[in-house]
Amino acid sequence: ALIVRHRMRSTGRWAKVMAILNEVEEKCATPIAKLRQVADAMTVEMHAGLASEGGSKLKMIISYVDNLPNGDEKGVFYALDLGGTNFRVLRVHLGGKEGRVVKQDVAEVSIPPHLMLGTSHDLFDYIAEELAKFVATEGEDFHLASGRQRELGFTFSFPVRQTSIASGTLIKWTKGFSIEDAVGEDVVAELTKAMERKGLNMRVSALVNDTIGTLAGGRYDDSDVAVAVILGTGTNAAYVERAHAIPKWHGPLPKSEEMVINIEWGNFRSSHLPLTEYDHAMDYESLNPGEQIFEKIISGMYLGEIVRRVLCRMAEEAALFGDTIPEKLRTPFILRTPEMSAMHHDQSSDLRNVGNKLKDILGISNTSLKTRKVIVELCNIVSTRGARLAAAGVIGILKKLGRDTVGEGEKQKTVIAMDGGLFENYHIFRQCLYDTIKEMLGEGVSDSVRIVHFNDGSGVGAALLASSHSHYLQVNEQ
Ligand code: BGC
Ligand code: MG
Repeated sequence: ALIVRHRMRSTGRWAKVMAILNEVEEKCATPIAKLRQVADAMTVEMHAGLASEGGSKLKMIISYVDNLPNGDEKGVFYALDLGGTNFRVLRVHLGGKEGRVVKQDVAEVSIPPHLMLGTSHDLFDYIAEELAKFVATEGEDFHLASGRQRELGFTFSFPVRQTSIASGTLIKWTKGFSIEDAVGEDVVAELTKAMERKGLNMRVSALVNDTIGTLAGGRYDDSDVAVAVILGTGTNAAYVERAHAIPKWHGPLPKSEEMVINIEWGNFRSSHLPLTEYDHAMDYESLNPGEQIFEKIISGMYLGEIVRRVLCRMAEEAALFGDTIPEKLRTPFILRTPEMSAMHHDQSSDLRNVGNKLKDILGISNTSLKTRKVIVELCNIVSTRGARLAAAGVIGILKKLGRDTVGEGEKQKTVIAMDGGLFENYHIFRQCLYDTIKEMLGEGVSDSVRIVHFNDGSGVGAALLASSHSHYLQVNEQ
C-alpha cells in the first residue's frame, strides 16, 4: 500500500510539473500571426518615435552619424567600448584606401560589480585608469605626431540623448547598471573629466551606441550593410534612415541625405508580446521596473533568470527537486544564460551535462533523466520565444525600410550586421532567429537579405567614426 501511495504521489507531482511546463509553453507561444503583429507594431512605433520626441516607447535616437565609413579612413584611433560586464579598449591603425585595418590592439577589462551601482565619478575614474594603462603600451608603430592629441571613439551602450556626434546625456541605465548621479549628465564630459584627473591626454571625437558602432564597422566591410542588431547582455538595433523621413529632425539636411537611427528597441512594448507571470515578477523586482520589456524577454541578461523562476515554481508546487527546495535556486540571476545554453545544447543520451550544471550551479544532485528533459524543454521554450521575437523586430525594421518585399525586377541587397554574446554563443537561439526571419520573409525576399556576424565590430566602428569626425580633419578642411 505504501508503494502504491508513493507512486501515486509521484504521478501527481509529475502531472503538476507537466501542467506548469505546458502552461509556460502556451503563454510563450509565438505563432507567425502573432509575430506579424509584433513586427507591424514595431514599424508603427518606429514611425511614431521619428515623428516627435517622446512620441513612442521607441526613442529613435538621432545619432548624428550621417556619413558611414567608406574605407578612406586613415590614422591611429582609440576606442572604448562600455556596455556590459566588461569593457574593451582598442587601438586601431586604419590604413586608408588599400590598408584597411593595419593593426589592432585590444584589452578587455571586467567591471567590478560594485562600480555598476556606485557613483559616476568612481566608474569613470576606473575606466580612465584602465584606458591610461592601455595607452602606455603604445608602440613604435603607433607613434603619434608630437603635440597631437589622441582621439577616441566612445561606444557607450545605453540610451543617450545625443546632442552632437561627440556629446550626449544619459537617459537611463539598463542591463544591471544603476548609477543615479550619472543620469541626465553628458557622458563624454564625465569621461573627459576622469581622463584629465588621470593625466590622460585624449579627446572624445565620437560618442556612439554599440549598434551604431557595429553598423559603421559593418559598412566598412560591406556597403550593403543597412541595419545592425545587438543580441548580448542587452538588445537593440540601429539602421540607416532617409533624413527627410525624420520629422523630428530640424537640423540641416545632411549631404548624404541619410541619418543613422538608434532605435533602442529594448524598450519596445506591445500588447502582442507574449508575457508570463514570471516575466512580470522579474520585471517588478528589477532595477528598472516597467522598462526594457522587449529586452527582458529576449536578451542574455534575462533568459537564464526566467528559466530559474519557472524552476523555482516547479520546485515549490510540484517538488521537482524533491521535498525541499534547493537553497541556491532561490538566488536571483544565479542561472546565467551561458549555463542555460550549455544545458540546452547537451547532446548526451543521459543529459549528463544538464545534470552537472544543476549540481555545480544549484547544488542539486541525482536528478532523473525525466527532470533533465523538463529543464531542456524549458530552455527551449524560453529561448525560442526570445529568438522569434527578435526576428519579428528585424522584420519590423525591414518593413520600415520597405525591404521586406521585393518589387518587380529590383534586387536590392540588405545586409544586417549582428553581434553580441547571445547571438554568438547560443547556437540554437541563433539558428531559430535565422529560420524565423527566413520564414517571415518568404521565398524570394529571403535571398536579398543577409545576416552577417561582425564580431566585436562596434569597437572598430567607433574608431572609424572617431576618424571621420576627427578634430584635426575638420581643422584641415577649414
Ligand atoms: C541598451 C542599448 C544597447 C543594448 C545592447 C540596451 O540595454 O539600452 O543602448 O545598444 O543594450 O548593448
Ligand atoms: Mg564577440
